[in-house]
Amino acid sequence: MSVVEVSGLRKNYGTGSSYFEALKGINLKIEEGESVAIIGKSGSGKSTLMHILALLDQPSSGEIQILDKDIKQLKKKELNYLRNQTFGFVFQQFFMNPQETVLDNVTLPLKIAGMGKKERDKKGLEALESVELADKASNKANDLSGGQKQRVCIARALVNDPQIIFADEPTGNLDSATGEKIEDLLFNLNKEKGMTLIIVTHDPDLAKLCDRQVQIKDGLIVGGEEE
Ligand code: ADP
Ligand code: MG
Repeated sequence: MSVVEVSGLRKNYGTGSSYFEALKGINLKIEEGESVAIIGKSGSGKSTLMHILALLDQPSSGEIQILDKDIKQLKKKELNYLRNQTFGFVFQQFFMNPQETVLDNVTLPLKIAGMGKKERDKKGLEALESVELADKASNKANDLSGGQKQRVCIARALVNDPQIIFADEPTGNLDSATGEKIEDLLFNLNKEKGMTLIIVTHDPDLAKLCDRQVQIKDGLIVGGEEE
């Protein structure tokens, strides 16, 4: 089964002299359990594509199917439910609430899903353990280092046992030892739980760990997609 399938995907920004075609017709199919690296130069359209695949932004035109559902047919509530239950996001700009505790930041997706506090704190602590930050659970998020915040974002992405992880430069802010631990964690989940990984990265070593590399150039796929 394909978890994500898009065809003829286009995204334009601006109008008049600021009109810009960021995506110019993307066709891409990602199967359940695959790990896919989206690579390409800065400005090529990787983040734009990722945001659209993760249903955080809408394309100017084109079709999107998630888990064989045409997302145009879904009501807003169903879309939010799908995102909340199925996706985990590791995006740098998805920042945390700095005044809340690390644990409360991690368990936010579970709170949104309506889970009770006791159960969500248990799951939150497990997720924090997996990124080796359980000892920081009751600290304010603001008091962590950049690398620790990045790991908290990863814990939050994992807390709802998502079917698909979307990660935009997940190891970008991390030292290499921590980066490797995060990679191990993500690829273990991919192997053991069949979690699909969709990773935007500049790091060729991380890209090579994935089953497939999809290269974007000027808003088009130039390699890696074998259809
Ligand atoms: P990448 O992630 O590969 O670096 P992006 O998807 O962020 O690239 O951006 C692709 C292109 O679209 C860039 O030229 C960028 O300037 C442009 N772009 C991205 N977001 C916007 C926006 N909100 N408004 C106008 N242009 C944008
Ligand atoms: Mg980007």
